Amino acid sequence: MKIAFYHELTTTSLQGALLSDACCEKILTGSDVELLLLLDAAYQVRKTYFQNEVQLHILNNAQNGYCPEDCGYCAQANSATTDIEAYPLKPDAEILEEAKRAYESGAYRYCIVMSGRGPSPKRVSHLAELIRAVKARYPIEVCLSAGLIDVASAHILKEAGLDRLNHNLNTSEAHYPNICSTHTYQDRMETLQAAQTVGLACCSGVIVGMGEETDDLIKVAKALRQLEVASLPVNFFLPISGTQLSEFDTETQRSVPTTLTPDYCLRVLCLYRFLNPRAEIRVAAGREHHLRSMEVMALYPANSMFIDGYLNAEGSTASRTLEMIRDAGFAVKTDNEDTNQLNQEEVAKRDVLLKELKVLRPRMTSNT
Ligand code: SF4
Repeated sequence: MKIAFYHELTTTSLQGALLSDACCEKILTGSDVELLLLLDAAYQVRKTYFQNEVQLHILNNAQNGYCPEDCGYCAQANSATTDIEAYPLKPDAEILEEAKRAYESGAYRYCIVMSGRGPSPKRVSHLAELIRAVKARYPIEVCLSAGLIDVASAHILKEAGLDRLNHNLNTSEAHYPNICSTHTYQDRMETLQAAQTVGLACCSGVIVGMGEETDDLIKVAKALRQLEVASLPVNFFLPISGTQLSEFDTETQRSVPTTLTPDYCLRVLCLYRFLNPRAEIRVAAGREHHLRSMEVMALYPANSMFIDGYLNAEGSTASRTLEMIRDAGFAVKTDNEDTNQLNQEEVAKRDVLLKELKVLRPRMTSNT
């Protein structure tokens, strides 16, 4: 592909213009589209709005399991047989202690995530008090993910100081019935619209690799653009054993093949950057699993990451992620000045391990 193609992608995105579906398809699957040039084109857009900064988020899985919904990708779903440690909403003291830890490890944003279809009015009041308490103690942004929410609940949460509401679209409207039967794409859209009605910033993203076509990914990216979401997590499907989408279904004779490659994942991130130039794009769950040795390249289109793992899956440690960010010449966006020092201490503690004799000379027996 000629160099002008890549320039055109950057220019079109920075001008706020829309890419055609054919162009989006080319980005995702064009064999003549070179990955490094594509990443550089996306980086020019990222740099314009976010410079070299990376925002770090820490998830608090405040309530695990006990969910009546059947999202096929989720280990907490009613339909999942995954052996997870279910627990009801954590006590306030525990959630506040975890907010403190998030702040101290340099997280810019603390995300409280609860399983379930949506909170009752009583639960909404409780969450509002909790948000007030976190905001009063720590200068950290708070995001809440609590399922389906109406305008009245969104208003109470906004008044309490909530910065963002998360509710992922996950996939396209057409593909939605293949991943969930207990609620619809439209239900999710209405939650985001409720948040917008009361002036709450929205965080909403996608899960890549759930058996969708490229066209579905393009449609979600364009829907999120229309919603003007402030934050856009791009998750890569983690095939957790026991979730509906990971298991072979004898009735439909299908399971979702986990054939994501690092190259494809990076192309998806670039596409989402071109279509949502001003959104905080987060390379979210699955980055370690699917990007592998190419993980650091995600920082060129994306400007945000989770540290310390995901809801039910472990991820890289905070110190390893901080090291990767700094090694690549990016800077962590934080209000906590101690973060730099924390990471340096971790790195200084690391010892080089020497090989033992039995590794160096495995054929040597004890009597030689
Ligand atoms: S994604 Fe949320 S609503 Fe769906 S099953 Fe998991 S916890 Fe329940």
